[in-house]
Amino acid sequence: MTDITQNLKIVRDKIAQAMERSPYANDVTLIAVTKNHGIEAMREAIDDQITVIGENRVQEAESKYDVLDRDVSWHLIGHLQSNKAKKAVRLFDLIHSVDSLALAEAINKAAALEGKRQDILLQVNVAQDENKFGLEAEEMMSVAKEVCKMSNVRLCGLMTIAPFYEDCELARPAFRKLRELYQELKDARLEGSDIRYLSMGMTHDFVVAVEEGANLIRVGTGIFGAREY
Ligand SMILES: *Cc1c(COP(=O)(O)O)cnc(C)c1O
Repeated sequence: MTDITQNLKIVRDKIAQAMERSPYANDVTLIAVTKNHGIEAMREAIDDQITVIGENRVQEAESKYDVLDRDVSWHLIGHLQSNKAKKAVRLFDLIHSVDSLALAEAINKAAALEGKRQDILLQVNVAQDENKFGLEAEEMMSVAKEVCKMSNVRLCGLMTIAPFYEDCELARPAFRKLRELYQELKDARLEGSDIRYLSMGMTHDFVVAVEEGANLIRVGTGIFGAREY
């Protein structure tokens, strides 16, 4: 077995075990985060049943998009600038990182021009980490309501990046908070929304995230090894 196959097995086993411990019955989709990794590694993961690729930069995704020649879903997980909305709409099936109303408006406009309804998540900075993008928890619902009035975006859920703690257990309150917001958003039944994705957890903390109800987890290092910059 190659490293990637072996790593995927380990990650999948951990997911399965965390799902068993979790009171929140969820089908978890593992997103392979391929930023700074090459096409060969991507193909290997896809050949081992990875169905979703996560990239954090539009430009990098664009350079890989035509070369990859695999049928796979592309997700944007990194910060998006409004002036790249058009390219993002062309490339990505789901944009996880919508962190302002202005960005949602830019995506809506670009999607209208492309004749597309763009699936998006709102990124919430639940831990109030100064170094991270994202809406504040308190403004999530009001932004969600505005977003749901836009005819070319479809709000599908929430995403967060927890602060990095040596002890990943310390990330649990942030994940719990996002799950509570997700439930509120679901219960609000906003017209035009289809709330089904709770995107949280990375290599370091995905086990805790799955225990707290994540159904999209974003793992790079755990599958491909350390990134070389
Ligand atoms: C890079 C990245 C990940 C994956 O990080 P790893 O620690 O390598 O698993 C997940 N989410 C976002 C938003 C990222 O930018």
